[in-house]
Amino acid sequence: MRRIFLSLSLLLAVACSAPKTPLIGISCSRSASGATQLATTYTEAVARAGGIAVVLPTVADAAQAEALLGVLDGLILSGGEDVQPGWYGEEVWNETVHVDSLRDRSDSLLARAALASEKPILAICRGAQLMNVVLGGSLYQDLPTQFGTAVAHGGGVEHRIGLEADSVLAGLYGTDSLTVNSFHHQAVKDVAPGVKITARSADGLPEAFETGRVWAVQFHPEKMLQQGDSSWISLFGAFVGRCGS
Ligand code: MN
Repeated sequence: MRRIFLSLSLLLAVACSAPKTPLIGISCSRSASGATQLATTYTEAVARAGGIAVVLPTVADAAQAEALLGVLDGLILSGGEDVQPGWYGEEVWNETVHVDSLRDRSDSLLARAALASEKPILAICRGAQLMNVVLGGSLYQDLPTQFGTAVAHGGGVEHRIGLEADSVLAGLYGTDSLTVNSFHHQAVKDVAPGVKITARSADGLPEAFETGRVWAVQFHPEKMLQQGDSSWISLFGAFVGRCGS
């Protein structure tokens, strides 16, 4: 009987000390037809990296965002619409700028709740742009008409990025440059206080940055992963691992 009790105690101790599978919340778009919308690339990248993806609805207020971040272990800010230029003190530049103010408010509430609770954030494309604005920076609203460059950034082209030596990406990939995809017509302009730019394209545009618990990339690693470049599991694995520790 005593042996059985000891075995049960041991089993319970092991079960309780086993690492919890991290719950990673992912922000979504609101589609024209009224759906909460998120590409499978994000949820499958998190699952492949050992996390559980939680598709997040639009939150109404800070209390909802804080309640969600109380349950989640990390946050991915996904791609999508442009951030409203008023948030960095500018008028809308031209007709290429598409904004969803409800999503902006929801994503910024989620981002602020994650920052306040020191939960890791992985910010992708629009997510990176939003993070820079939330932290006090600004954006180029339309690269083709505001930023003369020989590097194409829109429509899913590929281009090289150069990495800072002490960056997360350089540490993970053991290199000073990578080829990435590019789906953006906006980019970081004025860098927010406390933000360290860790990768740039050949024209000097920021393509990745870090600050404290935030990793931000202007490209789409989740899409490259789904399209068969398994090397990007390293980034998601490192992020999910960070959320679980
Ligand atoms: Mn780019």
